[in-house]
Amino acid sequence: PPRDDRAARRVLHDVFGFSSFRGSQQAIVDRVVAGHDTVVLMPTGGGKSLCYQLPALVRSGVGVVVSPLIALMHDQVEALRLLGVRAAFWNSTSSAEESEAVRRDVRDGRLDLLYVAPERLLMPSFQSLLDDAAAGAGLALFVIDEAHCVSQWGHDFRPEYLRIAEVTARFPHVPRIALTATADALTRREIHQRLRLDGAAEFVSSFDRPNIRYVVEEKTDARAQLLRFLEQGGDGAGFRGSAGIVYCVSRKRTDEISTFLRQKGFDAIAYHAGLPNEVRAAAQQRFRRDEGVIVVATIAFGMGIDKPDVRFVAHVDLPKSLEGYYQETGRAGRDGEPAVAWMAYGLADAVQQRSFIMRSDGSPEHRRVDSAKLDAMLGYAEASSCRRRLLLAYFDEKSGDCGNCDTCLEPPELWDATVPAQKVLSA
Ligand code: ADP
Ligand code: MG
Ligand code: ZN
Repeated sequence: PPRDDRAARRVLHDVFGFSSFRGSQQAIVDRVVAGHDTVVLMPTGGGKSLCYQLPALVRSGVGVVVSPLIALMHDQVEALRLLGVRAAFWNSTSSAEESEAVRRDVRDGRLDLLYVAPERLLMPSFQSLLDDAAAGAGLALFVIDEAHCVSQWGHDFRPEYLRIAEVTARFPHVPRIALTATADALTRREIHQRLRLDGAAEFVSSFDRPNIRYVVEEKTDARAQLLRFLEQGGDGAGFRGSAGIVYCVSRKRTDEISTFLRQKGFDAIAYHAGLPNEVRAAAQQRFRRDEGVIVVATIAFGMGIDKPDVRFVAHVDLPKSLEGYYQETGRAGRDGEPAVAWMAYGLADAVQQRSFIMRSDGSPEHRRVDSAKLDAMLGYAEASSCRRRLLLAYFDEKSGDCGNCDTCLEPPELWDATVPAQKVLSA
């Protein structure tokens, strides 16, 4: 309806300070404002937040945002308050007084957006709060952010996500919007099924990140190669003083490689799930605030990292899936400036990953899926044609040769078997 359309544009301009919508934002916003369930697949940095924040302001009542990361919640709420939006979060870090203030604000209709962790959403106290809101000022919408956390195959799996649909089912007239930057076919299907979003329209944006250059090197000595990349990569200028992430397969290796980089004069810190909370929080904060910090990490480092000027993401070990690789490399170049996704790959890594799968105690189906995911990753690592084209094809997106990956820039020399054969024959 035109009235809503005008309201949405006004909020876009007056509250968020943007002159126009980006990509499919307008279509998504229109649909959510009109009260329909929606699934949004958009790459990192694409502008997913606006797709639910704006409708929450246009529709009456409070928008409830389910988000898996407490640190992220905090940042989002702070940013919204600076824009004058009435936003709050309610999680395990909230004091009794803060919790009571949230309850009061929801009951009195004084909140536009409320961020909660999935385990909070499921608590009886939160259920009664939802009932109060529905009976009072209303529920504007339910937002399921990082919706891929519902997928049991991914490393971000959160069991509480499987129960979100039970909660939202009690409010069938409240629209739901699920958003993610992960989108292979299997994860997409799981989002629709497990969140019971069968009737939802799906908006799929292009997953291309044209400013990221993809490069794979054959692994001989990972440490020496990483050092060479950091000193000479990125068109020769190197990455001294730039922020970046180095992904490793194990905790031990993050220690080893971060120590090595420090010896070589880089400001490198290790990060993995085995470190105490304070150490991890401090590492995240240094990475965000200081210039030129390199985090050497396992995949535990990542979700919610929205530092705009990450200039490179390096993999010294092979990731388990192309989906994971896309997410990890997607943390580079969010500001749109040139960035590099570099990987050292050797056959031994493929053998190791394969044996992890075979030795895992998952079901045969689990192994089959993991194995297929690894195959796609190997297809990329061993490609002799455009890597971006392969990566996008994995997300069902067709594209031409990109001109900004190693195979486009320096096509591998095809070994011509006829030459040695002729030599042998003529000898
Ligand atoms: P995502 O959650 O998809 O990773 P964000 O919602 O954090 O992305 O948005 C990424 C950046 O793009 C933010 O800095 C945001 O302010 C900006 N942005 C989003 N929509 C617009 C728009 N319509 N015009 C200009 N900037 C926008
Ligand atoms: Mg986001
Ligand atoms: Zn290419």
